[in-house]
Amino acid sequence: MKKIQCVPLKFVRFSLAIALFVTLLASQFSFGWGKDGHKMINRVAVETLPADMPAFLRTPQALDEIEYLGPEPDRWRSPAEPELSAAQAPEHFLDLELADMATPNGLPARRFDFLRDLYAAQLLHPEMAAKLTPQTVGLLPWQANEVFERLKADMREYRTRLAAHTDTYGVEQAILYDAGWLGHYVADGSQPLHTTINYNGWVEAENPEGFTRDHKIHSQFESEFVHNNIKAQDIQPLVPSTPRMLDSPFDDFVAYLRATNQQVPETYRLENHGGFNGHGTAQSRSFTIERLVAGAAMLRDMIYTAWIQSAQPVPDWHDRAPKNATSSGKPA
Ligand SMILES: [Zn+2]
Repeated sequence: MKKIQCVPLKFVRFSLAIALFVTLLASQFSFGWGKDGHKMINRVAVETLPADMPAFLRTPQALDEIEYLGPEPDRWRSPAEPELSAAQAPEHFLDLELADMATPNGLPARRFDFLRDLYAAQLLHPEMAAKLTPQTVGLLPWQANEVFERLKADMREYRTRLAAHTDTYGVEQAILYDAGWLGHYVADGSQPLHTTINYNGWVEAENPEGFTRDHKIHSQFESEFVHNNIKAQDIQPLVPSTPRMLDSPFDDFVAYLRATNQQVPETYRLENHGGFNGHGTAQSRSFTIERLVAGAAMLRDMIYTAWIQSAQPVPDWHDRAPKNATSSGKPA
């Protein structure tokens, strides 16, 4: 277990190093795989759903719709909608270095519990308060899990309507939207540079391998390199054919983010060797394909898990856990 007492030293180690980059952190938004990567991940995830999933999910029209929705949350970043853009920008990433420091007992599953932890960490480390905000640290796993739960809720409604022999068209459309929307965040979570403070150039003081500090690597890797070199056909055959049922979707998503984060040094190493210039190298192409496969497999597994879990009966009201301190208790 991490100890909060360790935090100040770690903070000090890189807080000076990142101070110069705070403006950049606030002003340079990353897009996560660019349009091509998001569309590929969404399409391949649905193409690899098992055959016993409902057929409406796998029609050509459904595939086109879910593919279209891959980049959807990036369409909410326009200065024409400044409030929406600002509110949802943190939902695309999680800087694990900062998030872990703010949560000595592990990342909590509820968004508002994480906000509580961030505010507590701000009080404990006032010198770091500006960096311990949700806008700077990110909210990716909470957004992904909440959209996953929307998908599950709509799938439950679909089952109810199917059993009652009532029209399912409306809820089918809702499910396609949920699945496509979810795909965006799951895809962001397979991009190593969406899990780190080093998201667009190495910002830590320690840099023994001489990783680039230029602010180019993010879009060069996720947009230009993917656009010029990778196709959905490169990804689909590599997705494991059997879907995985997630035991605990939030915890599984966090584990997925941590596995992605392990690939941050390799991403920089490849860049150092010109791996994202032009057609790159065999190594950089297989690395990128492997990351896109990880995203497509996780999305496929989350859609599958939502479907299986949507069959579980909802507990009766009187059996439900009492509201905890972070719930408002206000009627809907
Ligand atoms: Zn994104």
